[in-house]
Amino acid sequence: MSSTMNPTAAPEIATAFAQQHFPGARSEHAPWLRDEMLAMLDHWFDWRRCRFQSPGDAVGSVATGDGHERLSERLAVLREALTEETPTFTPRYIAHMKSDLSLPAILGWFAAMLHNPNNTSREASRVGSVIETEAVAHLATMLGYDPGQAQGHFTSGGTVANFEAMWRARYRLDHWLAMALHLSETRGERLDPFAAAHMGWDRFRDLWRAHGVTETALKQASAMASNPLDVGRRISRASGIDYLGPVVIAPGNRHYSWNKGVNLFGLGAEALWSVRLDARGRMDLEDFERLVFQARDQGRPVLMTVGVAGTTEMSAVDPIDGLFDRLDEWERQHGWRIWRHADAAYGGFFRALLDGASETALRPDVSTALRALPRADSITIDPHKLGYIPYACGAFLTSDAQSYAVSAFDAPYLHRPELGAGKWASTLEGSRSAAGAAATWLTAETLGLGPDGLGAVLAGTIEARRALEEAVMRAVPQARFLPADANIACFTLAEDGERLSVSNARTGAVFAYFQESPAFAVSRTTLGRDCAALKTAHLAGYDGVDDSEELSVIRLVVMSPYWCDPVMRDEMATLFVAEMASALQAVETASVKD
Ligand SMILES: *Cc1c(COP(=O)(O)O)cnc(C)c1O
Repeated sequence: MSSTMNPTAAPEIATAFAQQHFPGARSEHAPWLRDEMLAMLDHWFDWRRCRFQSPGDAVGSVATGDGHERLSERLAVLREALTEETPTFTPRYIAHMKSDLSLPAILGWFAAMLHNPNNTSREASRVGSVIETEAVAHLATMLGYDPGQAQGHFTSGGTVANFEAMWRARYRLDHWLAMALHLSETRGERLDPFAAAHMGWDRFRDLWRAHGVTETALKQASAMASNPLDVGRRISRASGIDYLGPVVIAPGNRHYSWNKGVNLFGLGAEALWSVRLDARGRMDLEDFERLVFQARDQGRPVLMTVGVAGTTEMSAVDPIDGLFDRLDEWERQHGWRIWRHADAAYGGFFRALLDGASETALRPDVSTALRALPRADSITIDPHKLGYIPYACGAFLTSDAQSYAVSAFDAPYLHRPELGAGKWASTLEGSRSAAGAAATWLTAETLGLGPDGLGAVLAGTIEARRALEEAVMRAVPQARFLPADANIACFTLAEDGERLSVSNARTGAVFAYFQESPAFAVSRTTLGRDCAALKTAHLAGYDGVDDSEELSVIRLVVMSPYWCDPVMRDEMATLFVAEMASALQAVETASVKD
């Protein structure tokens, strides 16, 4: 959709936010940032001095300024070595989900790091854990959860946040199935593992009370509290089917953390069922339905369903609204309470665009899908991606305390007084830094996580992606862009009517040229079998001939805040088009020589 059809927020607003809240592509804010950094150190020094008043003179006996020669020298070596790091802050870096850090992120991170709280418990983090709670509330508000009800914590990243969701989903499934297995064995009724595993807490509590079930009895029927193989055998016996365990239903565009998750949680690779993708690379809801009924027919519980908001490869947003509509309908019709997780590691921040002028940067169907996010039981979001926060900063949120409850040791359905004392029992990770939470907090309190703030910046990046696409398409007729939902563009380089294997080779060669050139950093990805519909639609656009399983694309992640500025954007687009022309020429020359 072109920007002329869809007038958007004034670019000068996005530009102003980007200029004010980021260091500047040429370090324009260096003097101010230096002053703030020094003020922060001075504040920390003063705090230390007044907090430790030594009775003796122990500190004074250290000769200040001496003995640091080696440290200074090695630090200089380290500093110098780091200049070889990829300069991801520049607007020329459009390769991966990484860009410049924001000023509030740098300062918030630094401020907390100096005090080094450990958010594993209130005791080890009197202030850090409070900041975390407030930062979670800011994220919850942006995601559409009620911040008074929502729960969550910061993780090292999206991968662990996804594991947190799996852990909670399994916790429920295990309890519900254990209850049904216990009752089936003691009352001699046939077990329906699919229905049982989705009974929900209300039914669970009713059964608990009605049958006077004890915790000991429940533990003996729990795969987690006793032995999973033994419990599996007993489920087979009680149900009369060959019980194969639960499945996770996730779209083919999912992040590889889900493959790690089924491995780690011991489900086996087979238990990760892929939903086919449609011609835009989003979850196909018909196929999703088919898989749920296939699971039911095989007596295999659905541990969880995953919808992706902002896929890692293309920033595609699954039809989360339609997905949750179906789950709602089955819950009403059949009482199936299936855990719904939204993997919004990348795209969760696009909710900052909603309900303001910047929303027009989003396709209407993407807005609708993002509006459905708060209907999820749990959400993964990565502030270290579109929050412009330093690593390692992910977050896991649930809609309320009941969905948050989990434990490796206790019964969750009993109340959890220890939650007030810290999160150690309900996080997969042990020691956790407060720095990412503080960076997120300061970002939310200054730039803001709404349309007048981060939303305007992200709208600017989506506009920039459109402008870049248009510039490339005008100048490079072979450039064929895939559909895009947000600020990631993927394209191939193909002649009309060409065989896919030939265009794949050209796209690969142009990528190789970019890798050798300092002009722009881009990335490449290969779309495989899950993307068959996408591939077919793509080839139809230029009568391409399908002779390969895979579609090789060049991928541009246009998330740099500096691309918000139309002057910078046009300058970068012009340079990029020139680089493309050189690359194509070099590739054609090389192939003539071959
Ligand atoms: C990046 C990403 C993840 C994993 O996040 P990490 O922070 O790299 O662990 C998970 N899901 C999606 C959709 C992602 O884009």
